[in-house]
Amino acid sequence: MTSRRRFLTQAAALSAATQWPLVARAQSRPALLPRSKKQRAVVVGGGWGGLAAARHLRERAPELEVVLVERGARFVSLPLSNRWLGGQVQDGLIQHDYRHAARVFGYQFVQADVETVDRQARQVVCADGVLAYDWLVLAAGVREDFGAWLGEDQRATAAARERFGSAWVSGHELAGLKRRLADFAGGDLVMNIPPQPYRCPPAPYERAVLIASMIRARGLKGRLVVLDPNAISPMFRRVFAERYRQEILYVPDARVVRVDPFAKTLATEFEDFKFVEAILMPPQQAADLYWQAGLIGKDSEGKPTGWAAVDPVYLHARDDPRIFVIGDALGPVSALFGHYPKTGHLAARLGAVAARVIAAQATERELPRLLPESTCQVFTDFAPAATTRIESRFRFRGDGEIEQSNKQSVDANPRGEDEAWAKGMFRELLAYDARPV
Ligand SMILES: Cc1cc2nc3c(=O)[nH]c(=O)nc-3n(C[C@H](O)[C@H](O)[C@H](O)COP(=O)(O)OP(=O)(O)OC[C@H]3O[C@@H](n4cnc5c(N)ncnc54)[C@H](O)[C@@H]3O)c2cc1C
Repeated sequence: MTSRRRFLTQAAALSAATQWPLVARAQSRPALLPRSKKQRAVVVGGGWGGLAAARHLRERAPELEVVLVERGARFVSLPLSNRWLGGQVQDGLIQHDYRHAARVFGYQFVQADVETVDRQARQVVCADGVLAYDWLVLAAGVREDFGAWLGEDQRATAAARERFGSAWVSGHELAGLKRRLADFAGGDLVMNIPPQPYRCPPAPYERAVLIASMIRARGLKGRLVVLDPNAISPMFRRVFAERYRQEILYVPDARVVRVDPFAKTLATEFEDFKFVEAILMPPQQAADLYWQAGLIGKDSEGKPTGWAAVDPVYLHARDDPRIFVIGDALGPVSALFGHYPKTGHLAARLGAVAARVIAAQATERELPRLLPESTCQVFTDFAPAATTRIESRFRFRGDGEIEQSNKQSVDANPRGEDEAWAKGMFRELLAYDARPV
């Protein structure tokens, strides 16, 4: 156990020695909310991590004012989204109202795009004003690095994103992808899998099976070309080879290096491909805000790792005890396995961990040493349905290093377990089913 006072003293010494990125002072901008007598925790990002942090902060630290800032007006879930693309899940299950959750749980919701974090002044800066914080939880998710393929070419980047985006970063992009899949009339649909680490590793394979089953059901003269730079699981290799040999061309060791969204071509290190439709997934990184706030880690050569550097147990930024990072943006947490699995379940559990650490700091209690968990329900086939459940658990090894264990269970006859899991999470995070207050 670390005491709150020792923790803050050590961290304050660290932060005093740190050069934080300079932010053009936003003095002319008004405060988005008046300050009350209470200390304030601001959570940026209303995804899986941020929603959990806001809800658990209200419960664990009732003496704090809690504000959730999110750019979107409503929550759209990526978990369940593959089945939603296939018309198997209703809108009402994946879309939720932020204001309803905020009313039920008792925190404030502000819809705004955070431009940057002014760490010296302890405020987040938005277009219409600023929001002061005593504690800040950044749960802003990931971004896609189209620059890895297209350099500084903004026109090509915009075209690749708009015409061939994967809807991997935000649920608000799903409707466009659904239209493109409905319009796909045959030929080659190319989908690349991003290099590890990326969010929800089994989900691209699940999407591939969904698209293959759509191609078959519609009797299209077309195929899905899957370009994979990573090692595929034996389970999906078998499903692709045995069940969808006609519909899926699986290309191993295929790392995309170049894309031309106008000519509809792309190149891997070994081969060129032409497509009529594509789902493009460039390498992923922590979202813009982490870069602007100077929270990206460095490797041994001093190059940015692309992911936020945090204390792996308490989740605060290494040089700032007042800023917490949760969710998919997190960098490696263990020498044994690297990154936590980038799942919504795990992001939500990290939100609860951060809330408890902040609550302990705010009340001068001992800081808890807590670890998250993750459960992921993946469809390995749709007709007939078959799923695999991947459970990841964590514990402290004797020397303090975090250790991971995974369990996979195959279910050849699922009965709505994925929706039951999602409803449970939506009850916890979004007050799903709760009566309006
Ligand atoms: C197809 C697919 C299927 C998946 N299936 C599962 C599954 O079955 N189970 C599972 O556990 N996980 C699943 N996941 C993974 C899950 O979606 C992510 O792990 C989860 O969303 C991570 O949560 P997060 O809070 O880190 O980020 P997000 O949920 O992406 O939330 C980030 C939020 O921050 C907001 N934001 C970003 N920047 C700003 C800013 N500057 N100002 C204001 N707001 C900002 C964004 O609008 C967003 O709402 C799936 C993902 C995909 C793509």
